[in-house]
Amino acid sequence: MRKSMLVGLAAVSILLSSSALAKTCSLSIDGTDAMQFSVKELTVAGDCTEVKLTLKHTGKLPKAAMGHNWVLVKTSDKADVVGKAAAAGLAKQYVPAGDKVIAATKLIGGGESDTVTFSTSKLTKGGDFTFVCTFPGHAALMVGKLIFK
Ligand code: ZN
Repeated sequence: MRKSMLVGLAAVSILLSSSALAKTCSLSIDGTDAMQFSVKELTVAGDCTEVKLTLKHTGKLPKAAMGHNWVLVKTSDKADVVGKAAAAGLAKQYVPAGDKVIAATKLIGGGESDTVTFSTSKLTKGGDFTFVCTFPGHAALMVGKLIFK
């Protein structure tokens, strides 16, 4: 009886210490019918262990016409990922397969939102990261930087 209580206490203290180390940081960004993101730069503090990003489409147009997603890549991989997005197609949310995509939301239309959660272990501090909408033709306007300090 007493032993099982001690085991239980040990489990609780492990849970408490791991939750003290974990820090989920929430970010949000909007996409519009004017083919724009609401911000051009997102900053993630260095002590965040996880990022929870919510993309909201504030417009009214359906996703087949003005769909948006939020795709995070190393800036050096952007051209490759954007170049392969159209071939990936609507069924794959215009996100090409492979390990170059660090995180991606679903493709959404007007009035919808989607959230993606990813570990900052995929980022390097001071690294050069770009977020982009990979809907065909959107990447030139819907693009920004993600900064991990
Ligand atoms: Zn878009």
